[in-house]
Amino acid sequence: MTTPTATASVRAANAALRAALPFDDTQDHEDAHRGFVGRLDPCIVRAADGRVVWDNESYRFLDGPCPDTVNPSLWRQSQLVAIDGLFEVVPGIYQVRGLDLSNITFVEGDTGVLVIDPLISTETAAAALALYRQHRGDRPVTGVIYTHSHIDHFGGVKGVTSQEDVDAGRCTIIAPEGFVEHAVAENVYAGTAMARRAGYMYGAVLARGPEGQVGAGLGQTTSSGTVTLIVPTDFITMTGEERVVDGIRMEFQVTPGTEAPAEMNLLFPDLHALCMAENTTHTLHNLLTLRGALVRDPRVWARYITESIDRFGDRTDVVFASHHWPTWGRERAMGYLSVQRDLYAYLHDQTLRMLNAGMTGAEIAEAIVLPPALECAWHARGYYGSVSHNVKAIYQRYMGLGFGAENGTWRCIYLAGATELRQGNFGTPTATAAADLMRALSPEQIFDAIAIRVDGPKAWHLSLSIGVDLADSGEQYRLDLRNGVLVHRLAPVGDAALIIRTSRAALPGLLAGQMGGINLEGDPSVLGQLLGVLQTPDPDFSIVTP
Ligand SMILES: [Zn+2]
Repeated sequence: MTTPTATASVRAANAALRAALPFDDTQDHEDAHRGFVGRLDPCIVRAADGRVVWDNESYRFLDGPCPDTVNPSLWRQSQLVAIDGLFEVVPGIYQVRGLDLSNITFVEGDTGVLVIDPLISTETAAAALALYRQHRGDRPVTGVIYTHSHIDHFGGVKGVTSQEDVDAGRCTIIAPEGFVEHAVAENVYAGTAMARRAGYMYGAVLARGPEGQVGAGLGQTTSSGTVTLIVPTDFITMTGEERVVDGIRMEFQVTPGTEAPAEMNLLFPDLHALCMAENTTHTLHNLLTLRGALVRDPRVWARYITESIDRFGDRTDVVFASHHWPTWGRERAMGYLSVQRDLYAYLHDQTLRMLNAGMTGAEIAEAIVLPPALECAWHARGYYGSVSHNVKAIYQRYMGLGFGAENGTWRCIYLAGATELRQGNFGTPTATAAADLMRALSPEQIFDAIAIRVDGPKAWHLSLSIGVDLADSGEQYRLDLRNGVLVHRLAPVGDAALIIRTSRAALPGLLAGQMGGINLEGDPSVLGQLLGVLQTPDPDFSIVTP
């Protein structure tokens, strides 16, 4: 067999990307190495029967320069993701990275240690705990947190504690509400097909090398050991709930329907450290995973990141997650969260804008371009999700993908197409956005509806701040347009360049451009600039006609 080589077109595309991306920015390399304590050497984990379930040494080839056969951006990401060892996040918080697809985090308490997300397999989780103990002492595990219902965040739990210890109250297990139902649905109901497809998606059994598997973007690959589950003893149902385990104070934010159907972020207020679970990582994540899972909602995902910034931002000096390396410093951490948020909001809003203009999912995927600030942010690159398939996922989430047989709608659709071909476009006979519906919208829904109309590329260069003061309800909102994304939050109008004083009743008029009962304070040109980048949806878009 001959060794495969890159074609001229692949080499040219790789060279163009190398020139376009900021490869001289080495901040991620610094962060991925920061706080190194020690490593498992060699970084190989075996099952009881001797079978290798994790082999990070197989990625040593990544130390060299990027070959022609690998995308240089993915090569860089794999170099970062393949860095393994025990790392200090802040004194009291340690992570083992590079010992599975995900990270395992250790938070030191008064007497023992709390474990966040015990990897996929008992073997890798036990090896990580042993590495931690080797350097930090033989602390008992007094608590476990599952941040969400994906298997790489709980499967190794019996490698760090036992059902017996949990039953005896020596170890508490905390998870978001809905964790068990979703963990079961994903890994049992559709488990066979998803696991089979995951074998494709993560390439665990593929040969490593420049012509083979180089990493999976989110982590290098999946471990292949023993998967376990201990049912949680304590569920978090509401944002703002607090717990103290072994003297460790924690404050939770539940984020259902984001990266997982049951997920939560948590702040360690005494350590000024924010764990973002898998809601923000150093990649664009998946909205529809190749292994299969419910389509995720980028709208609520972005909203929850905004809430994280507002709720925890002024108490956070480092943000870490259950994949990839932390981001230190309040300004950098908040900048990172903001760009991650803008990424999901932009994909959602622009897909909806184009969908309402009559474009198909495939057309939107071809047309969409990220704003320069997102395109050049390393952590917004598509190592795990990608813009084109995420756009199609958003389309699918809202518009469905096909119709059932033996169905009257088939007949209607064929006849409607024939009618329009013969007689021309008949438009939209039933306008669903009726005045009554518009009046029933909450302010948040009105702002969402405006955000969806922002023409992204036209708005990239704009940075606008608008305060909205609703006299009758006493609510104040803050709207910020940046990176082509209009973000809204319940917050004092503050120093916004323009303040719109109106009532809840008059607010829907804004969507229709009606200014009755609306008073402007500050710079009125701000409203003009915003209206100038809003696109009106087209209820008459072509379906079968050219
Ligand atoms: Zn994960």
